[in-house]
Amino acid sequence: MELPKVCDIIFIEFTVRKVKPVNVLHVSSECYPFVKVGGLADVVGSLPHELKRLRNADVRVILPLYKTVIDRYGSELQELANFKIDLGTKKNVYVGIKTIRFQNLDFYFIDNLLYFGSREQVYDYGDEAERFAYFQLAVCESLPKIPFIPDIIHVHDWHTAMIPLLVKNKYQATLRARTVLTIHNLAYQGIFPLSEARIFGIDNDPTYEFEGFLNFLKAGILAADLVTTVSETYAREILTDYYGYGLQRVLRSRGKRFIGILNGISYRDFDPGNDKLIKCNYTSDNFIEGKQNNKKALQDQIGFDFPSDKPLIGFVSRLVSQKGLDLVKRIFDEMLASDDFYFIVLGSGEHEYQEFLLGLMGRFPDRVCVKIGYDEKLAHQIYASSDMFLMPSKFEPCGLSQMIALRYGSIPIVRETGGLIDTIQPFNEYELTGNGFSFTHFNAHDMMHVIRYALTVFRIKEAWNAIVKRAMAADFSWVQSAKKYKKAYRLLMPNTKKEKQ
Ligand code: ADP
Repeated sequence: MELPKVCDIIFIEFTVRKVKPVNVLHVSSECYPFVKVGGLADVVGSLPHELKRLRNADVRVILPLYKTVIDRYGSELQELANFKIDLGTKKNVYVGIKTIRFQNLDFYFIDNLLYFGSREQVYDYGDEAERFAYFQLAVCESLPKIPFIPDIIHVHDWHTAMIPLLVKNKYQATLRARTVLTIHNLAYQGIFPLSEARIFGIDNDPTYEFEGFLNFLKAGILAADLVTTVSETYAREILTDYYGYGLQRVLRSRGKRFIGILNGISYRDFDPGNDKLIKCNYTSDNFIEGKQNNKKALQDQIGFDFPSDKPLIGFVSRLVSQKGLDLVKRIFDEMLASDDFYFIVLGSGEHEYQEFLLGLMGRFPDRVCVKIGYDEKLAHQIYASSDMFLMPSKFEPCGLSQMIALRYGSIPIVRETGGLIDTIQPFNEYELTGNGFSFTHFNAHDMMHVIRYALTVFRIKEAWNAIVKRAMAADFSWVQSAKKYKKAYRLLMPNTKKEKQ
């Protein structure tokens, strides 16, 4: 009998031990386009698609079935199963699992009218601990009923951060998956009275207790097999007392199991060359004309006069102190009285900032336009028509708005923190490099000087246009980041074999 040659053996070995696909289930409270409050929705709306585009990955997403999802997608949802669970002393609480295939990806929804389906807003109810405890338990109990066995359960932010602990302590018999927790914003931890822990049915576990309270995020940080956050700089910052929101030591205890991976943005949803939400599509070849036409269209639409030759500064954001509004509050009256620019704001949030911005519009009615609310279309129109985009954040885990602004050629003016450091290179007038403007200290006058510098450079057309071209050429698509996540998943899987991406 003829023996196989060595090269044949290697070939047989290679074909038999084909790389096993990694099955990843993302668990999140938000996901664009189903439900969006902030950047979390953008990330969960695009990362799974990008992961799936890489070879050897099956990726699915599970979310609460909010009213907004029922209103927009209700007729397309299909029921997979329904059953009852216990929530601490509450017995027989209904769980429905609905599903939809959307853009080639399977999405699952946890259906419960009381907790999600009948409520107008997404957050800010008095029973958040119970709602999200319910969601997390319902997800764990649903998994055996879904035709998908995840190798990795990837949870996002505090709303889902107890799941790694549940997988380890309560569902170890049914769920064999490794867990990954991504922290999108350490400021939101899910802190509740310790007594609420009874809902989960895991008693006296020190993992979830922090300074006498139940802390969802802390439980996730300690229990997840891997903890990530959304930029490398933020990953370093939150190990310090200044940025760590009390959890710096807990994070430090994870050593190499805590890493930063920069977010990307969807180059399909945010593409000025193809965006259906803006009036005039444009690329880096015709952005001057494109931006002017969009400015004109915005002007006609909202009835506000934006002269095409004057700089327009945009601000699209949640109106909370994180976003640096105290600096705007401190200096914008003075600046608007002396500097020649226009300011358009879209956002909603804390009363104090809404009132200030509306007051600013009242004091400078010809120069400041403020729209309070959430409006996806108007947001795109502002990115497309503004010349500069202000983002003076006190802290910024990653920030997507500045990446979107770059893509639309609206030059970011940012404070050097977190992901803003990792994405914005300040303009250097000697070397003619950079895609934005930045200042270091959280100080209103520092911000003012940098805005004034940007306004000066704006008048030097050749220099400005080169900055816009560099900004529009920057690549913050998901491809690189998705590869990093996939590599991290593979390292967590037992018997991992090296795979070419
Ligand atoms: P965060 O997640 O802290 O809110 P990011 O910059 O990471 O901030 O992401 C914010 C996302 O939400 C961006 O896509 C931004 O355009 C969008 N956004 C914020 N406020 C509004 C609003 N009022 N209307 C429409 N889109 C908004």
